[in-house]
Amino acid sequence: MALDPSFTDRRRGAILGLAIGDALGAAVEFQPAGSFPEVTGFRAGGPHGLISGEWTDDTSMALALADSIAETGWDLSDQAERYVAWWTRGDYSVNGRVFDIGVTTVQALQIFRETGNPWASGNPSPRASGNGSIMRLAPVPVAYVRLFPDQLDLLVDRLIESSRPTHASPQCLSACAYFGVLQSGLLHGLPRDQVLDPHWEPVQSLHERIPLHPEILEIAQGSFRTRKPPRIQGSGYVVRSLEAALWAFHDAADFRQAVLRAVNLGDDADTTGAVCGQLAGAWFGESGIPAEWRAGLAGKDQIEPILQRLVQ
Ligand code: MG
Ligand code: MG
Repeated sequence: MALDPSFTDRRRGAILGLAIGDALGAAVEFQPAGSFPEVTGFRAGGPHGLISGEWTDDTSMALALADSIAETGWDLSDQAERYVAWWTRGDYSVNGRVFDIGVTTVQALQIFRETGNPWASGNPSPRASGNGSIMRLAPVPVAYVRLFPDQLDLLVDRLIESSRPTHASPQCLSACAYFGVLQSGLLHGLPRDQVLDPHWEPVQSLHERIPLHPEILEIAQGSFRTRKPPRIQGSGYVVRSLEAALWAFHDAADFRQAVLRAVNLGDDADTTGAVCGQLAGAWFGESGIPAEWRAGLAGKDQIEPILQRLVQ
C-alpha cells in the first residue's frame, strides 16, 4: 500500500490527539452532560485540580505503552512494569502525581506485582469492562501500522494482547481489536467512510477469525450513526465509550468538532475525548489539530521524545 505524504503526520496525530482529547475532557470529568458550560478549549480545574492543558491516566498509560514499544519492542511484561512505575512512582505523570487511576487497573496491577504474569493479571469478568485499555491503545496501531493489511492477524493479536494486563473481559479485548483495526486503516489514509463501513474487508476478516463481541459488533454495524445523545453516553463502560467516540468522529468536519462533541458528553469526558482524539488525530493528522491546542498541551517535553522514538 502506498504511504501518502502525511503518514507521519497521521501517526503523530493519533498520539497527540489522544493526549489533547484527554486534556480537554479532564476539566469536566464525572459531570453529567449539560450540567457544565460547554467545553471549547483547555480549562483548569476538574476533579483532579489540574492546570489548563494537563492530561490524566489515559495519556500516562499511553506514554508508558509507547515507551515500552519504542524501547523493547513487543513485551507484555515490560508494558505492565511501566504501568506499575506510573501507578507507584508517578512515572509518565504530567505533574509527578498519581491520580485518576481506575479500580480495574489498580486491582490488575496489584495482581501483576504479585504474580509477574501480565497474561493473567487483567480481570476477565464482563463486569470489569471499563474503557481503560481502549483509552491508551494508539501506540499499538501507530507502531505496527505496517502490519496492515498483509499481516492483519499479527496486528490483531497485539491489539488484543495490549489489553490483557489490565482489561481481559471479552468486551475489552474485542473493542481493542476493532478499534485498533479502524485506527490502522485511518493511519494509512483510507477514506473514513470506507473504514467505518460495516462491510469493510479488514473488519470482516477480523470478525471471521475472532468473532466480535455482540455489543462491539453492534457498533461495527453502525449504531453510532443512528443513535444520538442521551442514548450516546460518555460512559466508562468500554462499549458505550467506543460508541460515543465514533458518534463524535464519524461525520465531524474537523478535529476540533470531533473531540469537542466527545468531551461535552461529560461523565468520563477525558476518556471519551482520548478515544475520539485517537481516531480524529489519525484521520485529520497532527496538522489538523488546532495550533492553540498543540501549543497549550502540557508536558510536551515528556511526550515528544517518546513520540519521536515511536514513529521513527
Ligand atoms: Mg483519565
Ligand atoms: Mg477517564
